[in-house]
Amino acid sequence: MKNLQELVRPNIWRLAPYSSARDEYSGHEAHVFLDANENPYNQPYNRYPDPLQRDLKARLSEVKGVPAENIFLGNGSDEAIDLPYRVFCRPGIDNVVAIEPTYGMYKVCADINDVEYRPVLLDDHYQITADKLLAACDDHTKVIWICSPNNPTGNLINREAILDVIKRFQGIVIVDEAYIDFAKETESLRKTILDHPNLVVLNTMSKAWGCAAIRLGMAFASKEIIALYNKVKYPYNVNLLTQQQAMEALKDPYQVDKWISIILQERTRVMEAFADLPFVQEVFPTDANFFLTRMDDAQGVYDYLVAKGIIVRNRSRVRLCGNCLRITIGKRSENQELLAALRNM
Ligand SMILES: *Cc1c(COP(=O)(O)O)cnc(C)c1O
Repeated sequence: MKNLQELVRPNIWRLAPYSSARDEYSGHEAHVFLDANENPYNQPYNRYPDPLQRDLKARLSEVKGVPAENIFLGNGSDEAIDLPYRVFCRPGIDNVVAIEPTYGMYKVCADINDVEYRPVLLDDHYQITADKLLAACDDHTKVIWICSPNNPTGNLINREAILDVIKRFQGIVIVDEAYIDFAKETESLRKTILDHPNLVVLNTMSKAWGCAAIRLGMAFASKEIIALYNKVKYPYNVNLLTQQQAMEALKDPYQVDKWISIILQERTRVMEAFADLPFVQEVFPTDANFFLTRMDDAQGVYDYLVAKGIIVRNRSRVRLCGNCLRITIGKRSENQELLAALRNM
């Protein structure tokens, strides 16, 4: 890896971050807060929230097995996807490399930040080699994006290939593990961040944890990278309601395990039913709470389902996903309704 200063935009390296009232005060016991121009009434919502979400990170540290100082929390993964562009990539000069097809936000954030985006096509099994990804890089490549399990294909990306990229690439490797809780046989790469100073791993509360509405995303990385993210983020990027609701959800990780096992059971059932439909050509293997399937006329099936009030994701215009739909696993009753509609087509 290059040293961090070589990778970071010079203006960000030099940046003196905003210092909030709560940042400046720390230490002594205090009970009269007249430092932040808050209204003294309407507790508890009158006070600014902890800008570094310390209580929540302490709890997440236990659940995720990562030290609190190696955790960044954002307004969804969206924030943790946008930040590396703002921290590392000089607009109009630097570039990023990503697997293709993958999650759309990496490219949208590249376009917003005026950073060149270099997609590298997966193979027929939706896999990639380190050689192929690294061949797309040059001296201005700051970040490589890998999504595993990948969206929309559903499969885990080969762990050895990812580790090979991390070891050989001179810049930052970001592995988005939004669906890792559904991949039971694999250990999250977040457990390896202390061995890899150029690795950032993303997790989210939006999928297995059932909290998409509260907007809480996580990045796990070296404390130097976390410090850069904290310097650039909005001071109060995670609001109090979100912090409280996340604490509530984290009280019961077993509930999440129960949801996951029901969803995985349903996934097997729905995929087997799809394989039996006469117009389905292929049901791709998956490690997530959705699967990709190729059919004779994906647009036709999509339109038919919409007319019945059932919405799936039409991915048929995505590269390597011709005539493919992406199906999220729902409740049993929802899955039944989907299957009944398709059997009646
Ligand atoms: C759904 C999803 C996310 C979650 O994004 P949030 O902003 O945390 O809701 C992140 N990455 C991928 C690949 C996803 O599919």
